Amino acid sequence: MRGSPGISPGPKMLNQAPRHVNKTILLATLSPESPPTRLHASLKGSGHAVVTSSFDALQASLEDALPDLILIDALENSERALSVCSSIRRRCERDSIPIVLLRDAAPVSWTEQACAAGATEFLDSGMPSGLLERRLDGAIAHMNRLLNDTLIGANSLDPSGAAREIAEPSVFPRLVSVAIDHCRTTDNNVCVLVISVGGDPALKPEFSDSFANLLGLAVREFEQDGPISHPKGHVVISRISACAFALLVPDLGRIQDAARLGYKIQESAQRSEGASPYQVSVGISTSPGDSNNGLDLLHQAQEASNLAQHDEGGGLNFRTESTNRWVFERLTLERSLRSAIENDELVVFYQPKVSISGRDLIGFEALVRWQHPQLGMVSPAQFIPLAEETGLIVPIGEWVMETACAQAQAWTNAGHPPIRMAVNLSPVQFRKANLCDVVAEILQRTGLPPSRLELEVTESMLMHSLKDTIHTLQRLKATGIYLSIDDFGTGYSSLSYLKGFPIDALKIDRSFVRDITANADDAAIATSIILMGRSLNLNVIAEGVETENQRAFLEVLQCNEFQGYLMSPPVPAEKAEAFLTPAS
Ligand code: C2E
Ligand code: MG
Ligand code: MG
Repeated sequence: MRGSPGISPGPKMLNQAPRHVNKTILLATLSPESPPTRLHASLKGSGHAVVTSSFDALQASLEDALPDLILIDALENSERALSVCSSIRRRCERDSIPIVLLRDAAPVSWTEQACAAGATEFLDSGMPSGLLERRLDGAIAHMNRLLNDTLIGANSLDPSGAAREIAEPSVFPRLVSVAIDHCRTTDNNVCVLVISVGGDPALKPEFSDSFANLLGLAVREFEQDGPISHPKGHVVISRISACAFALLVPDLGRIQDAARLGYKIQESAQRSEGASPYQVSVGISTSPGDSNNGLDLLHQAQEASNLAQHDEGGGLNFRTESTNRWVFERLTLERSLRSAIENDELVVFYQPKVSISGRDLIGFEALVRWQHPQLGMVSPAQFIPLAEETGLIVPIGEWVMETACAQAQAWTNAGHPPIRMAVNLSPVQFRKANLCDVVAEILQRTGLPPSRLELEVTESMLMHSLKDTIHTLQRLKATGIYLSIDDFGTGYSSLSYLKGFPIDALKIDRSFVRDITANADDAAIATSIILMGRSLNLNVIAEGVETENQRAFLEVLQCNEFQGYLMSPPVPAEKAEAFLTPAS
């Protein structure tokens, strides 16, 4: 079990469907055997998927899948085409799918009738094929823009949060498709939740309104929790049957947050009806994991919700068992991480940093460890990313800093010579506006002089919004704190960048040290970092030094300090104390 949270692949990787770029066009003709040949060829050439259907079979084919556009051939029987258009439009309410009619030299009276029947656009079969394609693409784009407006506007809440705009069930799958299109260029997910409600209260006449209110409030609470990563990512609600609602979460960084929304809804439903609660089953499907088609995704969430209904009291299911397992594992770990500080499960270990000769102790790096009651010692490589995702890194990082500063000061108070204590800063902490105040308060509370605190920031962190970064570094530097760049060499910073940063030291990343004596490239990189450091008057420290050969090699290159198993692995405070020479 140990290590599983960091190792298990994300659900995206488990069953990823390719994201489609092309659109599906449904071509409806009077007689399917003879589609207008030139048009058909030109549509196929455009790269869109073309599905054909007879007028008679059109309703049925729309049950299976929703196309991005319906093209009705009015060449053979224009009156019949009009009646098909109006019956389809009635079904696909609110213009959610563009309907394009194809006819030669249509008389004005007919086009007026066609507009009234809900047609979006007309094409003349004699048009050059390039123009034809552009007009079709234009019709799709226009419709998607309208849907997108619905998606963005869907969050028009009143201040109580209860009156959320509810999308028509017929539009819902199209909204999902538009959300999928939006997410195509990001790493984010589109999630659909189907909430099926059973139990006595679902039979009451006021059920619909009161449950919709409950959903609206739960969704608002969820959005305010802040897991949604994109400002356009508002949740859309739709009532899809007498006792079921569908929710579209359009832009979600972590699919486990969709489960959190599901649990939130179940909890508030549980609370709301006291003795005779609702039975709320939640089914969740995700894109790109499960599908890239809006209607498909809705069906899959429905299936998952049906399965969840078999669980006592209403359950929560993702579409696939592997996703279920993955999410559950993450949420369990997340929950236990939340209580790790209060339960005293976190420990700080200390690794000595020494002069390159190995003779003088310079200080320690504080490295957090999680002593999990079931999983044993969990390494930071596994839980730091989770802590960063959830924002828990902020309280954890502050706790580590306070513990490490207090430890350094306690050693001085016990008569040891003062050392410098290095603490790692996460990008999440670094971007918080109150960072400098938090650090100042910790220094004040622990009594550690600022010059005895070192903050390690990573190179990649510094490359974001340069102006803000420099400003933050300058504020920290102004208080007298020592600043170093961790894992140096893995990013892309150049000498000219570095000149602008008020820093004191560079830490050569372990990956260049490992083979430094055998690999000429690594040796060249280490050499250039050391030269760069020297020219900027910075201290250079090598990380991960494990052998005497590596140390000696770095000494020849005139590296200033090192840290690594050769001297000591990170150890608990009691053991670290042995590296401090007693004051004479
Ligand atoms: P880092 O800051 O680059 O820390 C150095 C890592 O290299 C530590 O791993 C240390 O145990 C390991 N190490 C040191 N010497 C050697 C060696 O000679 N050989 C090998 N193979 N490894 C060596 P650890 O403790 O697992 O931490 C991993 C990363 O987790 C850290 O990398 C840091 O980025 C992060 N981390 C640890 N504690 C904290 C913390 O309190 N806050 C934050 N934000 N990040 C932390
Ligand atoms: Mg570090
Ligand atoms: Mg490092």
